[in-house]
Amino acid sequence: MPATTMEQLVSLCKRRGFVFQSADIYGGLQGVYDYGPLGVELKNNIKAAWWRAMVYERDDVEGLDASLLTLRKVLHYSGHEDTFSDPMQDCKRCKARFRADHVKDGKCPECGSTELTEPRPFNLMFKTHVGPVDDGSSLAYLRPETAQAIFTQFKNVVDSTARKVPFGIAQIGKSFRNEITVRNFIFRLREFEQMELEFFVKPGTDLEWLDKWRDARIKWWVDQGLDPNKIHVKDVPADELAHYSKKTYDLEYEFPIGTEELEGVADRQDYDLGNHTRYQDELALTTKVHKNTDSTAKLAVFDEEAKKWVVPFVVEPSAGVDRAFLAVMTEAYNEEKLPNGETRTVLKLKKHLAPVKVAVIPLKRNNEQIVSLAHQIKADLLKTGIGRVMLEDSGNIGKAYRRHDEIGTPLCITVDFESIEQSPATVTLRNRDTMAQERIAVADLPKYLKEFFL
Ligand code: ATP
Repeated sequence: MPATTMEQLVSLCKRRGFVFQSADIYGGLQGVYDYGPLGVELKNNIKAAWWRAMVYERDDVEGLDASLLTLRKVLHYSGHEDTFSDPMQDCKRCKARFRADHVKDGKCPECGSTELTEPRPFNLMFKTHVGPVDDGSSLAYLRPETAQAIFTQFKNVVDSTARKVPFGIAQIGKSFRNEITVRNFIFRLREFEQMELEFFVKPGTDLEWLDKWRDARIKWWVDQGLDPNKIHVKDVPADELAHYSKKTYDLEYEFPIGTEELEGVADRQDYDLGNHTRYQDELALTTKVHKNTDSTAKLAVFDEEAKKWVVPFVVEPSAGVDRAFLAVMTEAYNEEKLPNGETRTVLKLKKHLAPVKVAVIPLKRNNEQIVSLAHQIKADLLKTGIGRVMLEDSGNIGKAYRRHDEIGTPLCITVDFESIEQSPATVTLRNRDTMAQERIAVADLPKYLKEFFL
């Protein structure tokens, strides 16, 4: 099958209720999207898969869910107020605005003119005010990354869990960046979600952990259905590194718009904990000089061997949920030619990511016995804990199969006349990928589905 295009994905996402433009009826808010009935399910499943791999399956990670509104001082000392900006240029002819690093050969990406302004820094953080008085002292930011709260809560987490390095704190949540140009659907957004782990390690072991996390994260993406051949590791050149990083691997994926970043795995050293900490003199800071912070906390751990306080180094795998969504959809989208000449669109999502696990379809929606058995089956299957089971009573079996192929439902169960006439009751089970149908006793369904999904 030819490579999936962005048009195919955008069209499917709108048609089937995965993703909608925000404030669509008013013409849309640029760079902001809403996730529809199926989008919210897929997004939740991606986040659950990440949380499971990063927190539940490990013994060295705790979770956190911190606030989005962020005290100005936090982002001042983290370096974001001064350095979290992109160079911006304007086209003097067509008035378009764009990131200077998106300009090729000195030409405007919109109209090709070479009459451009000099690049100037544009801070990407959204400002707001906390409280009733809108003066400078009440300034706060919407967080530009989830990471900072992990650093500022480091001491509370350590004190409340008695964790020792190496250990990590994981968080999933919204981040906000006033990106200069937003296009390419949900690839670059002004409001987006991140899945971030800050993994605290002994200084000197950070590069080793960086490689371990790079490999673990590639494996996770493959487990979500991504073709390993379409994932590329970029060793970020020194002049492109973020202000806090000593070394970063970008995990890139072959999106329909080209090969672009999916996740960054960065060595943030002791940059953040060091900057948020006050007791400089007592600390053995390995690489940096941290001064002038207003924080009262000592964000360090006591090294029993060296008998001194040490600020841990941090390795950070940071992935975008929306980019994960786009990558998973890109990979799963298929158009297949059927023997009868028709084309079937099928979303071959991994089972654990499918928004709907099973559709229960009554063949006749005005037959009380059939409908009632379908309801009963749905209620019983829900108890198995496999996820969303949906009653699909559109009344047209062909359409129902087409719809569930398009939204990636792995199994459809059809309740027909045989189901109510025969004892023991049986139903038809249809597999999304093979389209094979088999008859199965209703009583055997829970066991079968548990084995299939869990
Ligand atoms: P880019 O180079 O694409 O601007 P970045 O290097 O600034 O990304 P990070 O700060 O490393 O991104 O953020 C970690 C992850 O968060 C990215 O790999 C990406 O998946 C996601 N992300 C960052 N910015 C956006 C955005 N504007 N829209 C959607 N996802 C984003």
